[in-house]
Amino acid sequence: MRKKFIFVTGGVVSALGKGVATASIGLLLQKSGFKVAPLKFDPYLNVDPGTMNPFQHGEVFVTEDGAETDLDLGHYERFLNIDLKRENNVTAGQIYHRIIEKERRGDYLGGTVQVVPHLTDEIKGAIKRLAVDDVDVVLTEIGGTVGDIESLPFLEAIRQMRLEEGMGNTFFIHVTLVPYIKTAGELKTKPTQHSVQKLREIGIQPDLLLCRTDRRLEKEQRSKIALFANLPIERVIEAIDVETVYEIPLLFHENRMDGIILDHLGLKGKKPDLTWLKEIVDRIKNPQDEVTVALVGKYVHLRDSYKSVLEALTHAGAANRVKVNLKLVDSEEIEKRGPEELLRGSDGILVPGGFGHRGIEGKIKAIGYARENKIPYLGLCLGMQLATVEFARNVAGLKGANSTEFDPNTPYPVITILPEKRDLKRMGGTLRLGAYKAVLKNGTLAFSLYKQKEIMERHRHRYEFNPKFRGILEDKGLVVSGESPDGVLVEIIELRNHPFFIAVQFHPEFKSRPMSPHPLFVEFIKRSKEKAEWIA
Ligand code: GLN
Repeated sequence: MRKKFIFVTGGVVSALGKGVATASIGLLLQKSGFKVAPLKFDPYLNVDPGTMNPFQHGEVFVTEDGAETDLDLGHYERFLNIDLKRENNVTAGQIYHRIIEKERRGDYLGGTVQVVPHLTDEIKGAIKRLAVDDVDVVLTEIGGTVGDIESLPFLEAIRQMRLEEGMGNTFFIHVTLVPYIKTAGELKTKPTQHSVQKLREIGIQPDLLLCRTDRRLEKEQRSKIALFANLPIERVIEAIDVETVYEIPLLFHENRMDGIILDHLGLKGKKPDLTWLKEIVDRIKNPQDEVTVALVGKYVHLRDSYKSVLEALTHAGAANRVKVNLKLVDSEEIEKRGPEELLRGSDGILVPGGFGHRGIEGKIKAIGYARENKIPYLGLCLGMQLATVEFARNVAGLKGANSTEFDPNTPYPVITILPEKRDLKRMGGTLRLGAYKAVLKNGTLAFSLYKQKEIMERHRHRYEFNPKFRGILEDKGLVVSGESPDGVLVEIIELRNHPFFIAVQFHPEFKSRPMSPHPLFVEFIKRSKEKAEWIA
């Protein structure tokens, strides 16, 4: 079978949920029986988002093979239930980097290196690299918005793809916005018309429009858009705001989006079975109970910074049939006002990953509050390091204990950089990135949750639990329930005599999927619910 290529572009504004739309399309094709390889192009010049500020960019998603990627890869993994790799996310920075390296090596034999064909060839190469083996469809999402200077070479490359691969083997989806203008009391189609015009100016005629809107599009509006976009009306699909992202594939299917795509590509698929997804949506929309979880962090004003954590909580909520009310607590506020005022009434407390010293003491206070008041606690990466610091200071009596990240001169560096473990750090310089094996100890909470001896979890951190202090802290009651196979690195800690206190050096949130919610999150929500019942 010829390989098929689908391209998703965006217009009008950013943040239209193009990533979720792409993931939803991928899921429908996968459930129709086809093997889908997703690809995200990011037109910015950074080589990867690893060093980008979460304020600007949202969460950095980490793959099994240790690539620091755009958060859309998280959507793809969650919807398609597959593990992606480094090559599934390509930035303009990487593409330029490759070209300049080639140029310096003399690979272009003295020729002039140009946007067309060299840059566009490199972009097409990244797409075709995924069209291997049993892959049926490469599903490419172009980041940014049509009209951005940066995206031009990418759009030119996909325009060429249609020419090379043929009309029937390529499909262009354009995601736009149909805004409701309050003062006029109506939905406006003009921005969509302009966006399609922009796309056609560069030679791309979309095959389908996905119109984001907060209310139903009337037939009249759809036909107006269809006329201007030069499309039959059934190819103008409304993507109305929904309560949960897991509803989106169901909505697309109802609108026959998968049918239109498959017909165009000449593919005969089976009827997708979406019962499991309906079940998840039902569990999310009709909870029997609710819990309040406090997430104590730094980027609390930007939900995208903790995308995978929030999704993992949603999956765990669905598994327990409870609604998780999230309270985003700024750790610097805890420093000012103390934990009691901000955390009272929380059924569970979570400290996620993070870098930099701002708000650290507030997080430590929050952890101490969870420990002393027996509130379920889940610590992720930095949340584990700070739980160690809190225990060292307040239980083991190591006054001034800290991570050397925050206090290089601490008398008790319970968290530090381990020079002898440098060989462990893969790409990206000094970070430990990607999946590593951990061995769990029998009879611990961790073991009872994972129900297996060995696990693989994804990492992204520079500092480690300092083995020099392990003995002292264990003597005082800290339980090390997971460690690296050689026993040097501490991967999981927990406390006894507490309803639920567990903290991990890795990021379990990256592996939670709606189909297989992560056991740590599921239990965290379960115990938080028990706490809520106990109070009520
Ligand atoms: N800043 C800590 C470190 O580098 C924790 C990182 C994280 O939470 N991802 O080790």
